[in-house]
Amino acid sequence: MTTYEIVVGIECHVELKTKTKLFCGCAAEFSDDPNRRVCPVCLALPGALPVVNRQAIEYAVKAALALHCEVQPFSRFDRKNYYYPDLPGAYQITQMFHPIAKGGYVDIETTKGSRRIRLNRIHVEADAGKLLHASGGIGGAGGTLADDNRASTPLIEIVSEPDLRSAEEARVYGEKLRTILEYAGVSDVKMEQGSMRCDANVSVRPKGDPVLGTRAEIKNVNSFKALERAVNYEADRQIDLIEDGGSVVQETRGWDDEKGVSISMRLKENAHDYRYFPEPDLPPILLDPERIKGIGLTLPEMPEDRKSRWIKELNLPACDSEQIASSRFSAELFDRTVALGADPKTAANWIMGEWTRCVRVKGIGMETEPVKAEHLAALLGQVSAGKINNKQAKEVFEEMFDTGEAPEQIIQRKGMVQVSDTGALDAIVQQVLADHPKSVEDYRNGRTQAIGFLVGQVMKASKGQANPGLANQLLAAALEAMK
Ligand SMILES: [Zn+2]
Repeated sequence: MTTYEIVVGIECHVELKTKTKLFCGCAAEFSDDPNRRVCPVCLALPGALPVVNRQAIEYAVKAALALHCEVQPFSRFDRKNYYYPDLPGAYQITQMFHPIAKGGYVDIETTKGSRRIRLNRIHVEADAGKLLHASGGIGGAGGTLADDNRASTPLIEIVSEPDLRSAEEARVYGEKLRTILEYAGVSDVKMEQGSMRCDANVSVRPKGDPVLGTRAEIKNVNSFKALERAVNYEADRQIDLIEDGGSVVQETRGWDDEKGVSISMRLKENAHDYRYFPEPDLPPILLDPERIKGIGLTLPEMPEDRKSRWIKELNLPACDSEQIASSRFSAELFDRTVALGADPKTAANWIMGEWTRCVRVKGIGMETEPVKAEHLAALLGQVSAGKINNKQAKEVFEEMFDTGEAPEQIIQRKGMVQVSDTGALDAIVQQVLADHPKSVEDYRNGRTQAIGFLVGQVMKASKGQANPGLANQLLAAALEAMK
């Protein structure tokens, strides 16, 4: 039986978060009422001339540098000609012949180890508008409406080489790309909202065969999990086809995540079908080395660099470093909290634990900075000073997350204190011992783990305010005295 190898290349469209569109002054804000953010330029009306958005070019360069690409001193726009109702001018302005950046790579880490995925190029292009199919899907639609608010918003397309060898690698590549672009600060990179869209070119070939198989392009994937499922599905489909004596046709397929299948959309066009030609209305983009270098200086410390710094200087475990560095927001929170004097491992545990849990459960964007580093550091300070215990701290943390209040304020408002007063605790300890003669008996018979239950009872009797360490100590002493 033939063993097959999966070959995947990914084309990723990323919306740049500029204030205005790529060639006009319209706000790049398409959540407005339909067709409100439009003008003669982005509607491609005759006589209207485009002007390149400087910020978009700078963001594209920034992304390219973050991905180790060679930024090109000379790049140029081209027209890609085709008709579709979401494309007002019947052409898209993109970069076919002279992209803004070439080469580059993304290092990924999967269950199979680490690999370097090469990039082919990054180019800048204008997005299309949006079609709204009345009453849902295109099939049963009573009609279709065009909304051009999104038309001509700036995109970069990041094209990888066909270096990916599994569905898992495809997912991890997408996630890593998102992390790097989030650090670079050039996009919201939200798959669910379409500001990052990954299309996968999937083919299979007998293992060891140097020739690439015929590929199918999978579109409409709106999460990284879906990307992994879609690649697996497509590879299986192609293998079945070949095993049954058929052959794969080059086509574009749409992924239906609910049904877990891909559906043929159209046979794949070739580049020459689009009659690309240099955009006559725009001059080339010339970038001198000084300017490129200047843009590079605006990049923050990137995830790989942070990771190795934390491992080396803070002794943070590699897996913790990986997890915290995977988002710029957790990374910055961590760095600032530690800079304020918090113990690195404790800060890491809180960010990976409570912070991540609250972000997920409450569905609040981490970019809104729901918990300030000053507050997290202060909270950890309260715990290490013995003012409150860990259980109370979790309650305070959640309140901090919801209200943005400082921990001291919350602790005071809730009247939280940790009972570390030996006298006060001792009274509770004596009561608990008197109430649970069975556990005391167990302990005396050598079942020392009974103390865990008794500590729990002390915590309960003190309404969670007892210092658990001290409670343990007092119980142990009292039990020993009773022997
Ligand atoms: Zn416009």
